[in-house]
Amino acid sequence: MRSDPTPQFLSYPVRLPDGVQAAALRLLDASREVINATVAALWERLDDFGERESQYAYKQVTAMMGSPAAHGDRQWRCEAEQAGRILRGQARRKQQFALILPLLSVGMIAPGTEKKPAGKDRKAIKAVLASLREESSDGGDAVELQGLIEQACNFYLKNGCFPDTYEEMQAVPVQKRGLLPYAGDDGGEYGTAHRLRVDVEGRCCYVALRCPDAQGGWEKGWTEPQMRLPLPDPVVEHLHAGAALAPTLREIAEPDGTSYAVLDFIVEVPVAPLADPRQVRRVLGWDWGVRTLVTAVVLDLSGNRLSPPLFLDTGGFDGRQAHTRRHIDRLKQKVAKLETRRDRFPVGDPRREPSERKLAGLRREIACCWRKYAARNSDLAHLAANLLLLLASVWGAELIAGESLKSLKSEGRGRGAKGRWVNWRNNAQIRGVLWRTLRYKCHLTGLHLAWQHPRGTTHTCPHCGKPAKTYASPALDAKPLDAGAWLRCLECGWNGARDYAAAINIALLGVAFLLQEVEHQEHEIRLKRPTMKTKPLNSESYTGSGLALRLPPTSPRGRLMHSGKRYMNGWITSVTLHSALPPDTMLRLCG
Ligand SMILES: [Zn+2]
Repeated sequence: MRSDPTPQFLSYPVRLPDGVQAAALRLLDASREVINATVAALWERLDDFGERESQYAYKQVTAMMGSPAAHGDRQWRCEAEQAGRILRGQARRKQQFALILPLLSVGMIAPGTEKKPAGKDRKAIKAVLASLREESSDGGDAVELQGLIEQACNFYLKNGCFPDTYEEMQAVPVQKRGLLPYAGDDGGEYGTAHRLRVDVEGRCCYVALRCPDAQGGWEKGWTEPQMRLPLPDPVVEHLHAGAALAPTLREIAEPDGTSYAVLDFIVEVPVAPLADPRQVRRVLGWDWGVRTLVTAVVLDLSGNRLSPPLFLDTGGFDGRQAHTRRHIDRLKQKVAKLETRRDRFPVGDPRREPSERKLAGLRREIACCWRKYAARNSDLAHLAANLLLLLASVWGAELIAGESLKSLKSEGRGRGAKGRWVNWRNNAQIRGVLWRTLRYKCHLTGLHLAWQHPRGTTHTCPHCGKPAKTYASPALDAKPLDAGAWLRCLECGWNGARDYAAAINIALLGVAFLLQEVEHQEHEIRLKRPTMKTKPLNSESYTGSGLALRLPPTSPRGRLMHSGKRYMNGWITSVTLHSALPPDTMLRLCG
């Protein structure tokens, strides 16, 4: 378990005033050109970026080359910083590619049939991912590794062979949206690419940026007069305690094709010290559900269940996402029809023009829908992470145990848009967001977070630990069904929702892990994480002693932190957190 807290940084975007938008966007365009030229020039030295001597990427870049544009040394350093960050990210991907390269095989390609073209064999890919298991990792890498394998398979489908090197399948990356970190500038009031004076008492700051003029010249330079920008409340709060880092200028694109510039304020956030594992008395376990997004339960260290089962049910949300998916499908059909109509005429024929015009509009709308869809998913993952922290806080649990992402289980059912959305919800991407959010928030608030082996957690009785079957329904004559929502133990008679059983089992693994850590804390030996086969305890009783759900939370350490984003956005009208116990234990959160 981690012992010393490392600082965390949060960023808060502030839209620049209309008067300087044009200049800021020009600046971003100009620096994007330099950044892309720099990345392209250094692409063949990618391996050098796998190692770093300085936290500043620009130092690495400027040691290798001079500025491709004569627009000032500090401006170049900021661009070099961004180019270096891109190259460092790519170098990391390349190192991960080395892990999967020996595992790439034709077995990952599903051969084509008469009805279906050749594609990726997802089962085979999953099996390979599972074989990459490392004891030390929580599976957060699994998402990246899967992405790399799929990229290699796409290469195979196009070229008939797997790539020999990372560069063979990865084109030189291109920055599409402007992004300029001022970390390479001297900063403060004396910067030569930007000037920033913070007035904490006045809750504002004064900013000037050095921008090219409309003709591309840099002689006039600065945006005048200095802009006065209000500082977001959390930034002011954090500035009282800690330092602000150099800001980042960033372009945000609107679905209608226009864009605007924001300045991201980046502040260091204090991190709560981690609780001594010997002091931890309660563990919250959660499972990524089949029927519900998340199911959670709190246990004490003897395995007694203190909380009722808590389900995060996202019914209305599912419907809304399904609606968006159906809308996208309809738009795609229209696109297909229009393309057929257009292709009746040869290229260059003016009669193609009306279809072309409509197609451009439809494609914009599709892109807009996908963005909305992805943003909602990401917001949902953040919301789920926040709720888990809230529950841990309410029940005083100081260790949160969740299943490792490595299984990448996807058990969505049903056809049509709703079924597909549930599938999507269960896939690695949204779970990755949930896990990463949880990881960094636990870090900030001093909670322990430990991943557990998910194998067997959905088909083991939490009461006696024997293997158990799942059924389509709680009825006694229900048929056994592997993806069934109800678990019934024939050994001891325990029965309950399958997601609930899994949450208890994961919490039990968390307890076993904690006890093992405490026992071996002094010896510094690395032990294998407990599995369903090796864990020493079961959950024999439900004491209900933690039943009283008191709000506001009674957490002694102020865990409900103010974070940089408001995750409960307007589109979620309500989320019901319900339990299997009487309705007075129901907690309803409205956005
Ligand atoms: Zn049992």
